[in-house]
Amino acid sequence: MQKGKIKVQTENIFPIIKKFLYSDSEIFLRELVSNAVDATQKLKTLASVGEVKGELGDLSVEVVLDAKAKTLTIKDKGIGMNAEEINKFINQIAFSSAEEWIEKYKTFEGKNPIIGHFGLGFYSSFMVSKKVEIVSLSYKEGSEAVKWECDGNPEFKISLTKKESRGTDIVLFLADDSEEFLKEDRILGLLNKYCKFLPVDIVFGTEKKSVKANEDEEKEGKNKDVIIETPRIINNTRPAWTLKPADLKEEDYKKFYNELYPFSFEEPLFNIHLNVDYPFNLTGILYFPKIKQQIEVQKNKIQLYCNQVFVTDSVEGIVPDFLTLLHGVIDSPDIPLNVSRSFLQSDSNVKKISAHITKKVADKLEDIFKNSREEYEKKWDDIKVFIQYGIISEEKFKERAVKFCLLKNVDNKYFTIDEYKNHIQTNQTNKDKKVVHIYSTNLIDQHSFIESAKEKGYDVLLFDTPIDSHFINMLESHLENVSFVRVDSDVVDKLIGKDEEMPSKLSKEQLDKLKEDIEKCIDKAMFNVVIENLSETDQPMIITQSEYMRRMKEMSALGGMNYFGQLPDNYNLVANSNHPVIYKISEEIDGVGKEKIIKQLVDLAMISKNLLKGEKLTEFVKRSIELT
Ligand code: ADP
Repeated sequence: MQKGKIKVQTENIFPIIKKFLYSDSEIFLRELVSNAVDATQKLKTLASVGEVKGELGDLSVEVVLDAKAKTLTIKDKGIGMNAEEINKFINQIAFSSAEEWIEKYKTFEGKNPIIGHFGLGFYSSFMVSKKVEIVSLSYKEGSEAVKWECDGNPEFKISLTKKESRGTDIVLFLADDSEEFLKEDRILGLLNKYCKFLPVDIVFGTEKKSVKANEDEEKEGKNKDVIIETPRIINNTRPAWTLKPADLKEEDYKKFYNELYPFSFEEPLFNIHLNVDYPFNLTGILYFPKIKQQIEVQKNKIQLYCNQVFVTDSVEGIVPDFLTLLHGVIDSPDIPLNVSRSFLQSDSNVKKISAHITKKVADKLEDIFKNSREEYEKKWDDIKVFIQYGIISEEKFKERAVKFCLLKNVDNKYFTIDEYKNHIQTNQTNKDKKVVHIYSTNLIDQHSFIESAKEKGYDVLLFDTPIDSHFINMLESHLENVSFVRVDSDVVDKLIGKDEEMPSKLSKEQLDKLKEDIEKCIDKAMFNVVIENLSETDQPMIITQSEYMRRMKEMSALGGMNYFGQLPDNYNLVANSNHPVIYKISEEIDGVGKEKIIKQLVDLAMISKNLLKGEKLTEFVKRSIELT
């Protein structure tokens, strides 16, 4: 037997490992199973070059729970290690890199988590164990089996032992505070999370399967189906992203989506298969889900893998923010995983990967747009938020996407930004030569305004998602000579701002008096009275809301700019001086009768705008009965 002391600077690194990683202690299983898979893959490589002769046999990795002995064992049939190798790989390399890792981790503590605490390796087993044993037999001819034991002090023992077959068993004697890992469900959950797509079969326990009885038995009239117990393999060793796109059909991509998100009921709209091997390594499949209005809750569905080992499902900092709305898998050994997130963004490989993915996403969208416009339009409502978010937040994506970003009008027709400008140019250009885009945010609430605009021959766009106000601002600054107004931001004659002023039938004095009379009947904090000379057939009173103020308020509701958010809603109450009723109150009616009619007209305008509620509505009903 040989005894030794692990050469570490820090007296005892185990308490430190525990302290730093307590909340993440579950990753020990990923690290140990990955090591087992690596040892198996190395053996396959050696066999392929003829260095290992003969049949390799079953190569599955087994995870075995023994609740009585309170142990968890990870067994592989890989290359194994002899005493010399254990000394080198475990006593020297593993522990010195443990120390290095801790030093690095200390500087990030609490601030910027290191992704998935990657690279922790073998010694992460001490996060959950009071003692760890390695029992290993090397593939090399004439090797003797060795046993290494360490109980959490930097002291270890190494001795010869008996082991029949090639490979390594890592036996964890679980610590008292880690007994959760003795539960089968817990381990199964972890294997499903981290090891679901590892390239070597991982066996955990058994499962019951029903199989058809063979023909002879069937003839004899015995049971048709037999239940047998077989080793339970928890992983798919050849997940779709590792295969060639040419070998996959549409159904295969859908099947893989279901494998990734077994609880999702929605089918993805389309997918992108990423496959790069130069100048960086990247594989993966991204899916476009149907994106609902609420952006935040839909993020972080992309899973990041490193050589088929799950690392994290939070890809912030690795891909641009808008891409985190997509689903799927990214696998890249070139993403540095043992650094902090803030450091990641400046890493040149990460930058290249991020730019590549953005480009691929734009390519795919452009391809569908160009080659199957009809299909693209059908899917537009579901991808709209994604594309707009990309355009707003990512310059490079914007450059590409403005060409295939669609605008939808209230009649469900779709146009590209350029097509739409051409469509409305003749009829909707204002006196300053700006092409005015009229839009609605709510088909029901703004119904009467939309109708008036259509009667005038104007086209009305539909912008009904929260991100739209940001998007409109972006378009206004990106496009030349274009402006946007909501359909109820002014009376229809003034929406475009052409130079035609209509004369009023009332004198200047009458107009001033009219304004004064109206102001007496309303809440001045809410309304700003404006007298306009509209046509006789327009409404007598209309409530509009300034485009600028409304948009500022909406954007502040989405974050930032608190000042605008706090302002009360303010509306313009437009009285049409040419409407017969208004004309009549100016010319003839006076006193109480006049006040009643004005209030009645204001209330009617409020109803069209869905603003009349509560006490005011009750008053209106009473007054209406009195007037009839
Ligand atoms: P890493 O896997 O990142 O190299 P580890 O600390 O996990 O770091 O392991 C250190 C070394 O120990 C490995 O590189 C490998 O050579 C050896 N090793 C660990 N586990 C096994 C195993 N199951 N079979 C064979 N060798 C192993």
